[in-house]
This record gives sequence, structure tokens and C-alpha cells, in this order.
Amino acid sequence: MENVAIVLAAGSGKRMNSAVKKQYIEIEDKPVLYYTLTAFEHSALIDGIVLVVGADDIDYCRQEIVNRYGFAKVCEIVVGGKERYHSVRAGLRAIEMAGGCKNVLIHDGARPFVDDAMLERLLEGVRSHGACIAAVKSKDTVKIADDADYVVSTPNRGNVWNVQTPQVFDFTLICDAHAALEREEATLKERNVEVTDDAMVVETWTGHKVKLIEGSYQNIKITTPEDIGIAKSIIMQGEANC
Ligand code: C5P
Repeated sequence: MENVAIVLAAGSGKRMNSAVKKQYIEIEDKPVLYYTLTAFEHSALIDGIVLVVGADDIDYCRQEIVNRYGFAKVCEIVVGGKERYHSVRAGLRAIEMAGGCKNVLIHDGARPFVDDAMLERLLEGVRSHGACIAAVKSKDTVKIADDADYVVSTPNRGNVWNVQTPQVFDFTLICDAHAALEREEATLKERNVEVTDDAMVVETWTGHKVKLIEGSYQNIKITTPEDIGIAKSIIMQGEANC
């Protein structure tokens, strides 16, 4: 397979303050994860999808999402881990066991608004750079603060980007980066290293340069309750345009 997406849905989503995990909250009668998977299922650029879920959610995901809506590109459903990078690793292993691929697109299941034009830009980017991530220029001024919340500096806004997913990598490169991370995993806490995205794994453990590619301001991650209202209006706007 050429391009395989790993869709991450194994997080607990504590910031949503909801009994239902954010990736399963229903908007217009369908779970958030339905919209995310639809974007990849409908794209001719994507050959397969590996879905990473919590151990307790595997049956629900298989029956109520993958089978119910007929997501034929979902070739594996695997159980994720404690940290996001553990879940990514589970997805990478599943692809490796199935014979590997050329490029892997790592995507948050809670980000339902990926579009085909963005996927095209990212796949062009990975062919040229080996590692690229969706991002948008920060609309706000960003401050770097110290631990007591005093401003330390103000970066030039032209160089400040908000990073999104998909994050797209040559498969061998991201596997090598994860293998190196795994070797140092035991010391991450004492070194105060928090691994927050996949680009960071590649930057830190391979030194390979990661290219920023234009994402979209609609490509929000459902994180807190107010995001549900925004997501609903994006979905309704999309339906009206159809
Ligand atoms: O917590 P955060 O919003 O950064 O999570 C981003 C995505 O990664 C979510 O879709 C979440 O389900 C997923 N995740 C995961 N495994 C974890 C933590 C997060 O699959 N251990």
C-alpha cells in the first residue's frame, strides 16, 4: 500500500468533561469519529486506514462505526496505549505486520474536518521532504512565559504556527524515530520531555527536518465543550453546500 492513515481514537478526552469520550460524541446523530473516518474513506489518495482505539471500545468501534457505516478501507482496528505516542506505535506495528507502506498519515480521531485538498498538499509534501505536518499561521500573538506566568519573550508572529494533524511521514523514517524514542522512553520523565506530536518524535530522534504545510482553520480538534457547537455549524454548513 502507498498511503495509509493511522486514526487515533484511544484517548480519554478528559478536557471535554463528558461521560462520552470526545471522539464518540454524536453531532447530527453521528459520532465525531464517523466524520473523521469518512474524510479518509472517501479520498482516492488513501489506500488503507488503521484505527487505534481503547481496549474497552474495540467492539463498539467495529460494530457501531466501522461495520455500521461500511468503512471498507479500515483494514485493522488495534488497541492504543497510555500516551498518544504509544497509540501511534501500535498503529505503526499493525502496518509493519501487514507488510508496510510508503507514507503514513497520523491523524487525531477527534479532528473531523480534513479535506482532500489538504491531503493532496501533504502527500506532495511528504514526497518532497519525507516529513510534513498540517499547520496554520497563528492568528493570535503568542507569548513565551516562565513557570510563574511572566512573559519571557514574544516570538515574531510570522514564524508562529498552530500545528494540526495529519502529520505525514515516510514509513521507514517514522518507524526509525519511534524505535529511537522507545530506547530512551525510561528516562523521558526525569528529563522532563513531553512528547506531544509525531513531528517532535522525528525532530528529536532523527534530526530529519519537518516541513509545515498549509492545513485549514476548520481542521479543529474537538477538545472542550464549546468545540461541539463549532463542529456542528461546520457540518451543517457542509450539508447546506452539498
Ligand atoms: O489528548 P489529545 O487531544 O492530544 O489527543 C489527540 C488524539 O490522540 C485524540 O484523537 C485521542 O483519542 C488520541 N489519543 C490516543 N491515545 C492516547 C492519547 C490520545 O489515541 N493515549
